[in-house]
Amino acid sequence: MSAPRLHINLDKIYHNASTLVARLLTKGVSVTGVTKAFLGTPQIARAMLRAGITCLGDSRIENIERMRQSGIEAQMILIRSPMLSQTERVVASADVSFNTELEVMAALSMAAVKARKNHGVLLMIELGDLREGVMPHDVERTVKKICELPNITFMGVGANLACRNGVSPDNRNMAQLSALADSTARICGFCPPIVSGGNSSNLDWVFAGDDIGLVNNLRLGEAILLGREALNRQRVPGLFIDAISLVAEVIERKTKPSKPWGTVAQSAFDGASASGSQGNINQAILAIGRQDIDPDGLDPPVGVQVLDASSDHLVLNAGDRKLVVGSEVSFQLNYSALLRAMTSPHIIKTFVKNGAVAGPCPAAQILPDAA
Ligand SMILES: *Cc1c(COP(=O)(O)O)cnc(C)c1O
Repeated sequence: MSAPRLHINLDKIYHNASTLVARLLTKGVSVTGVTKAFLGTPQIARAMLRAGITCLGDSRIENIERMRQSGIEAQMILIRSPMLSQTERVVASADVSFNTELEVMAALSMAAVKARKNHGVLLMIELGDLREGVMPHDVERTVKKICELPNITFMGVGANLACRNGVSPDNRNMAQLSALADSTARICGFCPPIVSGGNSSNLDWVFAGDDIGLVNNLRLGEAILLGREALNRQRVPGLFIDAISLVAEVIERKTKPSKPWGTVAQSAFDGASASGSQGNINQAILAIGRQDIDPDGLDPPVGVQVLDASSDHLVLNAGDRKLVVGSEVSFQLNYSALLRAMTSPHIIKTFVKNGAVAGPCPAAQILPDAA
């Protein structure tokens, strides 16, 4: 098999998605399956839909168009504010979009009128993480304007935390979201159908056992794909953390000093190069690099250490593992490494189906030597 490649286990993704859907249902919370980390790859999107997810969300209109072209008819939400230059495409392919700018919503309205369609708008509210969202004191005024726009349906409110500054969802900011959702009902005359509390970082808050107010939706990517909540990256009980793994091939194995020699200046990527002091080490190079992955987001097999990466080389301390040339090493990935791996045209995406059942997760491993 050629390398590097991603092993994407659709059964494990299905398991993670259906487990989360069932658990959140007990809290009255629906799941929007977030597809951006895999560029809307239809096989993965369909695994989410089979698992009971009825609505897909993506931040890029291209990914939504790709899923539409593959014949997926589920409700789709653009979860990033539309570009003014793309409002017609957004109305054509997405049922709903997340918004914060009235100028954009007016353009969506015009595009919807022209297309003789209706487009749903969800207003994102800033709750302290300082990424997208209107300030809380602007919510009522903005909703009033939204409700006047032709061919636009006000779908509700949402918030996104823990992405820019790591501000956590808690009872205080989530109660504020509920209170603002309630205040919009008075303005538009109906209870907005969606109160979207956040992403995979909201799971602990939802399951803490406290009142979750009017929050009735979460947008989940990482928890479904990697089985982890996004605040402390802890495994969500009962989910697979190895639904997706990365395999790369050894192209060099040499005993080398851990410490570089010569006059040391900046390296290609991060200023001064790391210098080891362990004497000689068992160094291996894999044919993969920063162009394909985030080296800090790779979890190597036990006894193996990721030392450095340049654009096309990943340098490992293989410890006492025998990594002969041509052998393969598999890694678990974090969200950042996954995003980049999915986007790299050099990494083959392979789908695995094995009737997976919940159980202990095998760690990253060194695969049997390539034949
Ligand atoms: C990416 C994204 C999500 C999904 O986040 P995960 O941590 O992967 O669950 C949710 N909402 C918005 C607005 C996003 O951009």
